[in-house]
This record gives sequence, structure tokens and C-alpha cells, in this order.
Amino acid sequence: MIDFIEVCSICGGQCCKDANPPLSKRRLEILLKNGVEIEKIHFGKYMHPKAKEDGYCVFFENGRCKIHRIKPETCVAGPFTFDLRGEVLEIYIKTEKICPLVKHLKENREAYKAQFEVAVEKIVALIRDLDEQSLSEILKIEEPETVNVAEIDLKKFRG
Ligand code: SF4
Repeated sequence: MIDFIEVCSICGGQCCKDANPPLSKRRLEILLKNGVEIEKIHFGKYMHPKAKEDGYCVFFENGRCKIHRIKPETCVAGPFTFDLRGEVLEIYIKTEKICPLVKHLKENREAYKAQFEVAVEKIVALIRDLDEQSLSEILKIEEPETVNVAEIDLKKFRG
């Protein structure tokens, strides 16, 4: 079994730097109910946690995520990330160069599959919860150093 926290500590939480993980209204409510102060949230083109002066997420403290249990969907999904082309959900994985976890996942197919499934579930939920304007802003963000690993028809998630 891969110890995500241990592996993630190797790079010092680079994915929490300049991350700006999107927050849906539903996720915001969860954060607020769990004691997160509204001042920690940035309300701009889309909602996300504020960043500190060094670029790290406001919730990144002492090398860890302070809100790990309730963190945003894209944080749970990492090192997988996404794009959307119409109804096609494109899943990408970060390159090994920028994320040490990727090598471990590639060497352990079971762990890869488990994390892939979690990522898809979380990303689908996020897309469902976001308003159109926020989603459109999020999709404009370039994500270099990622490789496409799957394309999923979103229609199959409709009830
Ligand atoms: S919410 Fe947590 S995991 Fe996500 S970017 Fe911030 S510190 Fe990192």
C-alpha cells in the first residue's frame, strides 16, 4: 500500500502551490460548517482557497493540508486532473517529473486503479456542483506537465 502522506512529503507539497483548487457552493458549505473562516476563501472568477504570499494554499501548514478530511475534490483527485470537451471528460495524470506519487502509482496497478476511480468520482461530482461560469473559467487554466490517460462519456453518469 502506498503511504500518500509520506510520498507527498518528498516534494514538500508542490501541488499545494499555485493550486487554487475550485470550490463549489456545496464544498464551501462543508468547509464553513467545519469551522473554516470565510476570510480564507477567494471569491473571484471562481471560488478557491486564498493563497499565501509564497503561493502556497492558505490551508497548507507544516507540510500538510490542514483540511485534509474535507479538502476540495481536485485535491483528492490528484495526481489526476481533468479537462472537458463537450460531454467528454478527459482525465490527465501529472508527469513523474512534477509529482513523485505518479511513479508509485504506475508501479502499483491496484493503487493506480483505486486512485483513478476516486479521481473520476470526485471530478464528476465537482463538475455537477459547479455553476457554468465557474466551470468555464476553470477550464481555461492550462495544466502543463500532464498526460491524457482516459476519456469518459459524462452521459453515463446521468441518472
Ligand atoms: S486544500 Fe489542502 S490539499 Fe488542496 S491545495 Fe490547499 S493545502 Fe493543498
